[in-house]
Amino acid sequence: MMTDTIARLKAVKEKIASAEAEADRPAGSVTLVAVSKTFSADDIRPVIEAGQRVFGENRVQEAQAKWPGLKADQPGIELHLIGPLQSNKAREAVALFDVIETVDREKIAAALAAEMKKQGRSPKLCVQVNIGSEPQKAGIDPREAVAFVDRCRKAHGLVIEGLMCIPPVDENPGPHFALLEKLAREAGVAKLSMGMSADYETAIAFGATSVRVGSAIFGAR
Ligand SMILES: *Cc1c(COP(=O)(O)O)cnc(C)c1O
Repeated sequence: MMTDTIARLKAVKEKIASAEAEADRPAGSVTLVAVSKTFSADDIRPVIEAGQRVFGENRVQEAQAKWPGLKADQPGIELHLIGPLQSNKAREAVALFDVIETVDREKIAAALAAEMKKQGRSPKLCVQVNIGSEPQKAGIDPREAVAFVDRCRKAHGLVIEGLMCIPPVDENPGPHFALLEKLAREAGVAKLSMGMSADYETAIAFGATSVRVGSAIFGAR
């Protein structure tokens, strides 16, 4: 079970390296965010021991239960929040996460700015874009994304490093990745968090700087 996970981690890293080469991008230019949601600290520890340092969780409370201990054992962990954030969880999120990828509305931007000031801690921030304009999905609408990044900077003093998206499940992700890349250029941000287990190689071809891969490493949830 454990050795399967480590073998899958290695296979994913090799596929990332191939996709970088295929896209004429420098080796190591894509960061692998290993998505450990639903898996326990005992499942995660061997992956850390195998050298993985960047992880993603989608729930603040679940992450609070697992990660303070894991981070204390191993310096240099970078933990990403990749799920929706409620403003009443901003304090916990700022205290625990190193990157918050899901800034998607004014209220969250304001809450994060206030907490970052209060705690003197500055997680890196990305804006989540609802790239397929799906009614049920989190994220700022693509038509408002560039203006929102600007408001985060000017109204809230936040440094936004990139954009993040989750394309609609049943659609070809390519055009959605291409749109996110275009919006990032317009907004003047460098990071692109896109691509999951099913489509991370495609995302790399479209310029992803980080991919969020869960089940292809940890197995089915
Ligand atoms: C769960 C999750 C992932 C990883 O999904 P897999 O298909 O298991 O790779 C990536 N991004 C977000 C936002 C997620 O919630």
